[in-house]
Amino acid sequence: MTMREAACACGDFRLTLEGEPILVSACCCTRCQRRTGSFFGVTVYFRPEQLVRREGAASTFHRPGSTTFQFCPRCGSSLLWELDDDEPIIGVAGGAFADPTLPGPHRMTHTGTGHPFVTSPRGIPVYEGPPPE
Ligand SMILES: [Zn+2]
Ligand SMILES: [Zn+2]
Repeated sequence: MTMREAACACGDFRLTLEGEPILVSACCCTRCQRRTGSFFGVTVYFRPEQLVRREGAASTFHRPGSTTFQFCPRCGSSLLWELDDDEPIIGVAGGAFADPTLPGPHRMTHTGTGHPFVTSPRGIPVYEGPPPE
């Protein structure tokens, strides 16, 4: 079984995930831009039971009506998040794996607020707004 480790910038907050992700999603919404400091965010979704180990302390930031983010209190990297709607799914920051073998995005969302120079990988579904339910 594939094991992958995600870590914050300082290395204090770490997650170990078992198996392949359910979905990898790139998002160009303005909230993802502000949270990441980048032009888009990448979320790697897993089932909660795939998170087999966590190390280090985390602080939380709740985006009302949406998501609770866990981030490293020392360096501020957000690493892990849960959706408010009780879906049995967790999100992990794509860049935190620093692993070129991680699958690329399966979809790109909120391209309507994305920068024009950000383009999607060929052949994946692209949504100007949120993806359909
Ligand atoms: Zn850190
Ligand atoms: Zn977003």
